[in-house]
This record gives sequence, C-alpha cells and structure tokens, in this order.
Amino acid sequence: QFQMIKYEQLQWDECLGQGSFTRVFKGTKVDIREGEEHRTQVLLKVLDANHKDYWEAFFEASSMMSQISHKHLLLVYGVSVHGAKNIMVQELVKYGALDLYLKRKGSVSVSCKLDIAKQLALALNFLDEKNIVHGNICAKNVLLAREGDPSQETSPFIKLSDPGIKVSLLDLILDRIPWVGPELLQDPPILSLDSDKWSFGATLWEIFNNGETPLKDWDLEMKRRFYGTYQQLEPSQWTELADMITQCMDYQPASRPSCRVVIRQLNNLITSDYEVLHASEAPER
Ligand code: ATP
Ligand code: MG
Repeated sequence: QFQMIKYEQLQWDECLGQGSFTRVFKGTKVDIREGEEHRTQVLLKVLDANHKDYWEAFFEASSMMSQISHKHLLLVYGVSVHGAKNIMVQELVKYGALDLYLKRKGSVSVSCKLDIAKQLALALNFLDEKNIVHGNICAKNVLLAREGDPSQETSPFIKLSDPGIKVSLLDLILDRIPWVGPELLQDPPILSLDSDKWSFGATLWEIFNNGETPLKDWDLEMKRRFYGTYQQLEPSQWTELADMITQCMDYQPASRPSCRVVIRQLNNLITSDYEVLHASEAPER
C-alpha cells in the first residue's frame, strides 16, 4: 500500500551518499495540482542494481513508513519505478544521519543528547502502541532535522528513518551485532517489539559516545562470541544511563523494560549529575 510517483515528476540533484544497499540523492518532486506547480525538496533513495531482487522488501519498508505518521518518524511520500530502478521518495532531512553528525561535531551537549534520546523513545513508544516492529534502529537511521542550541534554548529535532530491507533477508545479522537483539541469531530468527528495545539500547550507547561505532573492526566470529558469552557494551560512567542501556540490552527479550518505563527513566536522568561526574574526572592540575 503505497503512493506511486511518476518518474517524470522527479528531478535529480547531487548524490548525498551510500547506504548498505542504496544510493541517496537530493532531488525535487513536482506535482501539478489545479494547474499549479508544487515543488517539494526530497531525498531519493535508489536500491542498488545488485540488490534489485529485494525490491519487494525495499518497498515494504516504504509502505510501513507511509502507513503511519508521527512527528519523529520520517515522512515517506511514495515509491517510483523506472525500468530496473526502484526509488523510495522521502522527506529530505537537513543534517542527515545522527552518527555522522555527532562524530563531526564532537561536542554536543549532554542535554541535547538526552533530548534526542527522549524523542527516539517517543517514536519507539508510538510504534509499540501500533504494534509495528521497526527492525533497524541505530544512530545512522536517526536523522537530524534541527540542531539544538543551548545558548538559544532550542532543542534538536530527530526523525527515525525507514528500516530498509530486513536484516534477516540480507544475511547481515552477525554484521549488525550489537544492534540486533541476540534472539535474531536463533534459528529461525525471532524479531519482535522487544528486539527494537535492544536496538534502542545500542543506539543510546552510540548517542552518548558521540556517534562512535560500537564493536568497530570486530570480525563476525568475535561478534558472535560477544553474544555467545552474554557480554555488554562498555558501560558509561554515568551509572543511571549505563543501567538503562543494560536493561534494554537484556539477553532475555521479555525482561526488557516497556516504552513507558524507558521514557520515565529518561525523564529522571538529570544532566547535572553527569556534568558533576565529568568535572570530577577532569585531570588534576
Ligand atoms: P540502512 O540500509 O541500514 O538504512 P544506511 O542508513 O547507511 O543503511 P540509507 O538509509 O540509504 O542507508 O542512507 C544513506 C545515507 O544517506 C545516510 O547515512 C544519511 O547520511 C543519508 N540519508 C538517508 N536518508 C536521508 C534523509 N531522509 N535525509 C537526509 N539524508 C539522508
Ligand atoms: Mg538508513
């Protein structure tokens, strides 16, 4: 169930980058309504030719996103097909992927990161209430629409992107450790709302580690062993946050906290605790 957009309605600008099986371009969607031309800036996500057999799964992600609407979920306008080209037409989000943004900036305030975490939790809660599994929550799929500026008292604003092709179809499960819930390594893999909770925990870790990639450069065997021996990511110094991440990344899916609990815990985190902690960590002079 999705809107079909005519290829002729699309204008293409520069390539913005590449995903696991996609190339993304900036572009414009042109609609003629009542004789008037309406132009919308869009992001055009093109499925790689060598993954074209997955077009159904690719469009499934698009259809899932089109069916729901929430301020922290990316808007998907529809899909377009042109010859062998499969295109998802979506909202262009100004600052792009959150992991890259955090890496680039280096110094985003803790209160800003906390705002982002809360917004993501709201998106997760919305999906949870609708009984919809996202399946690919991670910092690169969190897009930043607005920067936060503490001096101007403005908050950042995020949009959760589409999940793309299911990781289980692409044989990417081991690769996606530590974002995938360990229950996805079972045969058959089990993907549920609880799995998104685990991914949320890993994403919190990324946010508070400035977009650092967890288990970067680990090979698949090491990653498999990480789950096999029930390990956890290196805990944050901020104990309350570390606790939350560990609760989300519970090896027992059913033991992970509900969205409501997650939101409450995030609201209870007090930034000044973190700042005091870091002041005491500063090297002695
Ligand atoms: P995955 O297939 O697992 O989602 P990915 O997130 O790297 O992998 P894409 O979703 O295709 O792949 O995104 C590729 C890159 O394009 C992102 O890292 C981001 O920088 C940018 N991007 C994606 N969607 C948007 C958007 N709506 N607005 C602006 N930039 C975007
Ligand atoms: Mg993505």
